[in-house]
Amino acid sequence: MAKLNMRPDKNPMPAQPPEVRAHNFLEVAKGYSEDAALDEAMRCLSCRDMPCVSGCPVNIRIPEFIGKIKEGDFEGAYRVISESSSLPAVCGRVCPQETQCEERCVRGKKGEPVGIGRLERFVADYHNEHDAGNISVPEPNGHRVAVVGSGPSGLTCAGDLAKKGYAVTVYEALHTAGGVLVYGIPEFRLPKAIVKKETETLEKLGVKIETNVIIGKTLTVDELFEDGFEAVFIGSGAGLPNFMNIPGEGYKGVYSANEFLTRSNLMKAYLDEPSTPIMKGGRVAVVGGGNVAMDAARTALRLGAETVYIVYRRSMEELPARREEVEHAREEGIIFRLLTNPTRILGYENPENARDPKNGFVTGIECIEMELGEPDASGRRRPVPKEGSEFVLDVDTVVMAIGTSPNPLIKNTTEGLEVNRRGGIVVNEDGLTSRVGVYAGGDAVTGAATVISAMGAGKTAAKAIDEYLTGKKEL
Ligand code: FAD
Ligand code: SF4
Ligand code: SF4
Repeated sequence: MAKLNMRPDKNPMPAQPPEVRAHNFLEVAKGYSEDAALDEAMRCLSCRDMPCVSGCPVNIRIPEFIGKIKEGDFEGAYRVISESSSLPAVCGRVCPQETQCEERCVRGKKGEPVGIGRLERFVADYHNEHDAGNISVPEPNGHRVAVVGSGPSGLTCAGDLAKKGYAVTVYEALHTAGGVLVYGIPEFRLPKAIVKKETETLEKLGVKIETNVIIGKTLTVDELFEDGFEAVFIGSGAGLPNFMNIPGEGYKGVYSANEFLTRSNLMKAYLDEPSTPIMKGGRVAVVGGGNVAMDAARTALRLGAETVYIVYRRSMEELPARREEVEHAREEGIIFRLLTNPTRILGYENPENARDPKNGFVTGIECIEMELGEPDASGRRRPVPKEGSEFVLDVDTVVMAIGTSPNPLIKNTTEGLEVNRRGGIVVNEDGLTSRVGVYAGGDAVTGAATVISAMGAGKTAAKAIDEYLTGKKEL
């Protein structure tokens, strides 16, 4: 075996140059070659106490899978990962590794941590390229479970149960399965083909995916039980957008980030003749500083915007988006207007001519400069407006990316389902809700969080549902 690699830096990730990628929707990061993966794996010290594993929400046995890469046994590495994670090609791409597994890696003390996420992506892509698609379908165990929502929590729960012989049906409100992985995260960060492969694998396992079914409207949770399902998992996410409640949010050209990204991702607004109206060209302001804001800003650029601003009320230090995404956005030319808060959206109004076709469209966003005061409840310094510092950014489109909440539809149509004051479904450590037989997990419980945490919740609930339906655990 080759010698340990004590270089302080990670093997760089090959990527499309910024000036090229800013005009296309192809994936930005291209992934490691076999040589780069082997070289990076040799940076791992195979620590006995495995600090990296405790940083992973699903406790992937990291040194073990990296050990397999060192031996050139990439399929063996895949088998190790897939014992803990059902979406490695997704998590290897979008997990916030820098605050999870890689944050605890000992190599990070005197240089960069081992590129665990990059290695995970390499292994998953290698498997997907070489996989013959043979899946052994387990014997049915006679039990039926319904899953609401096809995001990472729902897909993971469905997959784990199907592997145990459950007849699982996933109900999805949209016309495509995958949740935020398909309607939110853009193609240039997570190609949709990867998510499609995951949903196809589930279908081969026998999972039925019924799209265009809204639980709470088309069918209720109670009707699912009446139909013969013995347990229900709710993984309906947190897709209800928040707005600032400032004047002008009703003007044409103001979108929530969810709507903006869905139109681009699922309704193909990037085509030359799209079937859905969305901005083309012009100037765009995206309000917010998280991953969603970065995705919306970079999508706007690829849709042809001339100028794109990120408007964020705190400083770069508090910006919650992943560093890598912020760097990518900057390299592509997104302009960061930090310590800036919108106060009003301006629009074109022509009182002389109500039929003027420009009436009601966004023309700008009035903002005020901010300074940081004392820390607030979150521990971050509170932004305070600077008196008299108002100014206007001339823009044609405004995208609000200031967070989302769980939709109350399921709660309002399900008797006895307890939610907290933020609308999150209340569950115990097994994912069981206040209704017997009804489990929940992912963003529907926690509010907007991460793919890996949603996946972990789906796994926990699948285990608990199995224990409940086979009588291994009394409720
Ligand atoms: P979701 O993925 O939201 O899926 C819920 C599904 O349920 C949806 O398909 C929805 O249509 C469906 N649904 C809702 N209500 C109903 C109903 N009544 N009936 C039937 N179906 C219903 N996380 C990361 O880890 N890394 C990132 O880089 C990252 N980037 C992100 C970028 C964007 C733009 C967004 C929006 C989120 C991002 N996240 C990221 C967060 C992450 O995607 C979510 O935390 C995760 O997808 C939550 O999974 P979930 O299964 O709980 O819900
Ligand atoms: Fe790290 Fe995420 Fe992979 Fe866990 S799933 S090892 S946190 S990249
Ligand atoms: Fe390898 Fe880092 Fe984990 Fe140690 S902490 S086993 S070096 S990945």
